[in-house]
Amino acid sequence: MNDTILIVEDEPKLVRLLSNYLRQAGYDSESIENGLNVVPRVRTRMPALILLDLMLPGRNGVDICKDIRSFSTVPIIMVSARIEEIDRLLGLELGADDYICKPFSPREVVARVKAVLRRSATQHHPEAISVLHLDEDRFQATLHGIDLELTVVEFKLLSFLSSNQGRIYGRSKLMDHIYPDQRIVSDRTIDSHIKNLRKKISGVSPETELIHSVYGAGYKYDT
Ligand code: CA
Repeated sequence: MNDTILIVEDEPKLVRLLSNYLRQAGYDSESIENGLNVVPRVRTRMPALILLDLMLPGRNGVDICKDIRSFSTVPIIMVSARIEEIDRLLGLELGADDYICKPFSPREVVARVKAVLRRSATQHHPEAISVLHLDEDRFQATLHGIDLELTVVEFKLLSFLSSNQGRIYGRSKLMDHIYPDQRIVSDRTIDSHIKNLRKKISGVSPETELIHSVYGAGYKYDT
């Protein structure tokens, strides 16, 4: 993650205009005009925010946004040339942070960029649960923007533990949550799921220990 705003836009005049305004507001920017180059760039160097035009050569903004959301929560502002298009985009639930319609005033864009960055900074406060993002609909957990690739059971465990930071849950409580149908499972099942969960977390971020075992009691989530 760095401080660069990535402008994805195929109209050079617009790129120049935006980057000038962003620079005046204290933001560095880079630009990409071909849609095919966006995801590889984001994967190698995560920008602070992406201004993503909808109509691009190579690949459209909707596909790019979906793709990025599969591995990152980086703030995205979608830019559309048609106001009617924005309703359709909202309906697609792409996970973009904001939508702007062309023609826009660069001042307005800078204001939106600031607002989205401010919001995202509060959400991703370093000492809060921050870096961990849980998508309850897809059973997907990302840490520092990287998919932990959890099984459904592991996701449920992480989601349950993290819903009450610092609270200790015994194995039987966790089992009740994971297996509400009262299936008979051994205590060790929870231990082995927790073990795998921790392995996946440390695989993404070796210095992050989110699941702590409390001797004789169970487990707790703490950052
Ligand atoms: Ca365009």
